[in-house]
Amino acid sequence: MQAISKISSAASLFRCSRPCVRQQLSLRKGLAFGVTKLFSSPLKTFCNTGRSVHVSRFCSTGSNISSSLQFELVPCLADNYAYILHDEDTGTVGVVDPSESLPVINALKKNGRNLTYILNTHHHYDHTGGNLELKDKYGAKVVGSAVDRKRIPGIDIALRDGDKWEFSGHEVHVMETPGHTIGHISFYFPGARAVFTGDTLFSLSCGKLFEGTPEQMLASLQRIAALPDDTSIYCGHEYTLSNSKFALSIEPTNDVLQSYAAYVAELRDKKLPTIPTTLKMEKACNPFLRTGNMDIRRVLGIPETADEAEALSVIRKAKDNFKS
Ligand SMILES: [Zn+2]
Repeated sequence: MQAISKISSAASLFRCSRPCVRQQLSLRKGLAFGVTKLFSSPLKTFCNTGRSVHVSRFCSTGSNISSSLQFELVPCLADNYAYILHDEDTGTVGVVDPSESLPVINALKKNGRNLTYILNTHHHYDHTGGNLELKDKYGAKVVGSAVDRKRIPGIDIALRDGDKWEFSGHEVHVMETPGHTIGHISFYFPGARAVFTGDTLFSLSCGKLFEGTPEQMLASLQRIAALPDDTSIYCGHEYTLSNSKFALSIEPTNDVLQSYAAYVAELRDKKLPTIPTTLKMEKACNPFLRTGNMDIRRVLGIPETADEAEALSVIRKAKDNFKS
């Protein structure tokens, strides 16, 4: 009950979004109405595939946004998400970050769909592992970063920062968001108020700095944070529960974070996804978007005079060493 009342009080801080309720999750039925709105997950119908929760139906994008674009979350590997994009008007289908082909093929088969595009946020195998099989089976075009042209398997369309690509008439803004890898890009769909952030921005964390610097990651996160608050964030992994433990350890007095962490724990208890999250929620709770926060700095011993990149570096190292 305590968690629910905390969630309800946190809900008053947010005014959003999706009354798109075709079928409500039983968990969410048990929570206050405002909570469903707060966390702003689209409607999903779930069925248990035996290995993980699988979202079997398409979900409309944000309720305030008129778009014929629908997204389907497809769990892959241990904790990856691929996302199938479907334009209702034209039937065009794409997939973002297929780490493996089979779950994507099964999801497409279920709805009798073809595949036109494969979008990759970065070159890591757990985001591109399904590229070649899917390309071979469907003749899909692979879309990725020009910077990583040599590392994206099967790339056909190489995009750069600021490019405006079109997915079946839907504008897609290409944002270079390096830090996790040098050639990382995020795909922003302004008409659907959605961004696919790969391993740059997670719910309550950011990607490890394998190739880039704290300065690059900070700049990438700041670019994403400059999008509208009601933007839905579709990231590459289901890491939110463990991320919430770290976030709480360094900002234990953040009421919104406490509420969100409780909600995330309930979702994961039910093996339900926590994605998408919203930018508004991340700005309120994600320590990597809160590098100027004095409570976090105090806990981690980051001087007031340290700049935000230095703070991000310390937070990242603390996260890397955190044992939940
Ligand atoms: Zn990665």
